[in-house]
Amino acid sequence: MASMPSIKSREIRIAPEVPINRTLRFWEGLDEGRVYASKCKGCGQLRFPPVADCPSCLSQEIEWVDISGEAEIETFTHVVAKPESFKQDRAYTIAIGKLKEGVKVLAWLVGFKMTDVKIGMKARLTARTTPEGTSTYQFVPP
Ligand SMILES: [Zn+2]
Repeated sequence: MASMPSIKSREIRIAPEVPINRTLRFWEGLDEGRVYASKCKGCGQLRFPPVADCPSCLSQEIEWVDISGEAEIETFTHVVAKPESFKQDRAYTIAIGKLKEGVKVLAWLVGFKMTDVKIGMKARLTARTTPEGTSTYQFVPP
């Protein structure tokens, strides 16, 4: 493939700070090993990742639901050509799982052999702290 004429731009590194004051309970929960979804007090919709404002009825009243973590994998992809920010990681798997509570979650799927990952298999959503100290969540074997 012939390359187009181009100039090299400067490297851009972006690390925005995201305010979390209205979803603080979610982040505190991850630190405690719990995963919370938000439930709208207006219309009852469950959301994950949690939201502070309901996109359905616009209510700002939410409550926190400590989810079971039980999930069924609906789809997945193995990431071999990794983005810059994960280039130090080995090939990894990203999956969408449907929680028992009904919401779908996009997260890393770890602890399985890649060849064992199948649509319809059971997994569990758990809290995790990255080596950099960031609180997050992931799917693991049930
Ligand atoms: Zn609502």
